Amino acid sequence: MMKTAFLYDDVFLEHDTGEGHPERAERLRTMLQRLESGGYLEKLIRVPVREAEERHLELIHSRDYVERVRRGVESGDEYFDSVDNTVCARTYHVALSAVGGCLNMCDEVMSGRATNGFCAVRPPGHHAENRKAGGFCFFNNVAIAARYIQTEHGMARIAIVDWDVHHGNGTQDAFQDDPSVYYISLHQYPYYPGTGAESDIGFGQGMGYTLNIPVKAGSGNSHYLQAFNEMVIPELERFRPEVVLISAGFDAHRDDPLSSINLTGDMYYRFTRMLKGVAERHSQDRLIAFLEGGYNVEVCAEGAEQVIRALLED
Ligand SMILES: [Zn+2]
Repeated sequence: MMKTAFLYDDVFLEHDTGEGHPERAERLRTMLQRLESGGYLEKLIRVPVREAEERHLELIHSRDYVERVRRGVESGDEYFDSVDNTVCARTYHVALSAVGGCLNMCDEVMSGRATNGFCAVRPPGHHAENRKAGGFCFFNNVAIAARYIQTEHGMARIAIVDWDVHHGNGTQDAFQDDPSVYYISLHQYPYYPGTGAESDIGFGQGMGYTLNIPVKAGSGNSHYLQAFNEMVIPELERFRPEVVLISAGFDAHRDDPLSSINLTGDMYYRFTRMLKGVAERHSQDRLIAFLEGGYNVEVCAEGAEQVIRALLED
């Protein structure tokens, strides 16, 4: 069995988004219950949280922006930058803890203490840009992790595969001119946040290191499997990443209330197995998944279970 690490802490529940908000603490509560009753938790190496330092946030975000988030939360406002991004008094601390926990996870996997891992964090990150929050995201967990692995652990080539139903505009924004981080996204299109056209392939040195796979509303398993087999996996084989990161949202599931893609839960197992194959061939098995969206709490829990089941297998 693989040594699979798991990041979760009750502090992630303290980001209170208010009545009726889809990105709510219940997502993680239900996930934890499911992993516990399925007997998974006892098989996982638990990773502690820590508050990320500002220098880590600044790997991706401007100093101004970090300060603006801190002050925005302290001011007592109900939301930050847009009504989507509701905040409470604890939001800054929780967001820093999510990033710091993800960095601890990177240390765990890069040191070899764990082979791979899953970060069950909130708030999510992939919509957060250099100086802009969006789509329930404040700091870009996966993007900061990628840069941290490069700077702290000396890795050159990192792949980020984003199967959340929304395009990860923040992650693309961070790496679109950079050939060392290959960002690949499958997403419903046209849809929020509006970015992620097929013609966005990066620019400058980074041209060819952004792959957007827009998917029409109503598409499902066969479309995604074909995209993985014909595009995602061959591109990763060519790129030979030293670490594989996943932006794992579970909102492309057919029962998600926000989107119109029709995946079934077992797909998350299959995608993870395929990416694990890439990690086995090129990355010494190093693979880390980061929770992004997923707004049917049962589906989100099932998705996490499917990913973790695949991570644990030999
Ligand atoms: Zn999403």
